[in-house]
Amino acid sequence: MSNISKPGINTICTHTGELEDTQFKGAVSPLYMSTSYAFTDVDVKRYPRYFNTPNQQALSLKIAALEHTEAALIFGSGMAAVSTSLLAFLKQGDHVLLQKTLYGGTFNLVTEEFEKFGIEFSFTNDLSEAAFAEKIQPNTKVIYIETPSNPLMTITDIEMVAKLSKKHDIVTMIDNTFASPVNQNPIDFGIDIVIHSATKYMGGHSDILAGAVAASEEHIERIFHMGKNLGGNLSDYTVWLLERSIKTMGIRVKAQNRNAKRLAKFLDSHPDISKVYYPGLKSHPDFEIAKKQMRGYGGMLSFELEDTLDAKKFMNALQLIKPSMSLAGVESTILLPSETSHALLSEEERIAQGISENLLRFSVGIEEKKDLIADIEQALKACK
Ligand SMILES: *Cc1c(COP(=O)(O)O)cnc(C)c1O
Repeated sequence: MSNISKPGINTICTHTGELEDTQFKGAVSPLYMSTSYAFTDVDVKRYPRYFNTPNQQALSLKIAALEHTEAALIFGSGMAAVSTSLLAFLKQGDHVLLQKTLYGGTFNLVTEEFEKFGIEFSFTNDLSEAAFAEKIQPNTKVIYIETPSNPLMTITDIEMVAKLSKKHDIVTMIDNTFASPVNQNPIDFGIDIVIHSATKYMGGHSDILAGAVAASEEHIERIFHMGKNLGGNLSDYTVWLLERSIKTMGIRVKAQNRNAKRLAKFLDSHPDISKVYYPGLKSHPDFEIAKKQMRGYGGMLSFELEDTLDAKKFMNALQLIKPSMSLAGVESTILLPSETSHALLSEEERIAQGISENLLRFSVGIEEKKDLIADIEQALKACK
């Protein structure tokens, strides 16, 4: 690795940060499970909650390289990464501006917890520059976005938000989970802090709960201080497993991009489907922005069945594609936002947000395209 000047994505995924097995010369990084390290004759005083065990440091290098940043930190969940980052940059009397369509957990963190810390917040539903600019206050310290967003795959213009924030000296954060670093590097468009639920594409096999933050040394230093006080670290065993999983992230996500694009086109031309939301379709209202900031359009899409069909019946008739709350695994999964993420909204609110009872969110896996299409076709027939 050391003599390769600009490694490509799959080389970074496979090798960057790997630990050498000097004792036995094994092919993969050794796992160091110690929670207790010597404090004499050492240059680093190591402890898992200080983010500095050998496996944590190695994986941080890989994630920083993937996001084109100087540094990164690994957390015990995506929400630990989100909460630690926000709290590191916000104190009593500060204001944070967030886009309205956010991961539910992030929305809940802000609306349920921030008031007691005296942190002010506002949301913007409109993703235009004018809408963001209008909601900036003299005490705004952070602007927080998520793109593509769940479940309608709206696209926020990353460069626009970064430029606007710089003008006002505001720190920007993005939840880059849905795109993954394979498809989108927000740092290249001027964003300061990139957050991931590594539970999703980084883990990729629906068996790891983890989070990550990537940014400059300076920003990471600040998040590190809050992080060691809050204590949301990931166990080294899972760090090691996550490193192993990321080795295949490039090829997994590229396969998911190809499958999702094919499936989006298939659904878009199907008479039983009334709407398809996929940023890689030319008919997507934000296709031009997506094209500017994404290398691939991801494995997530949503679609709506015609009114005459029953989405629950359709979902239950699927044989290969499984109903599931989470997303981004190698296996294709599907869910009904009206019954899960958006179940607590009133019907009126749900309809105002464009989330009908016939809307399905589809996390496209790596199975053969023809098999996924055949499964959807037979389920559409079965639910009539
Ligand atoms: C899942 C998810 C999170 C939260 O991550 P956890 O690992 O469940 O804590 C945050 N943002 C997005 C976009 C997600 O999909």
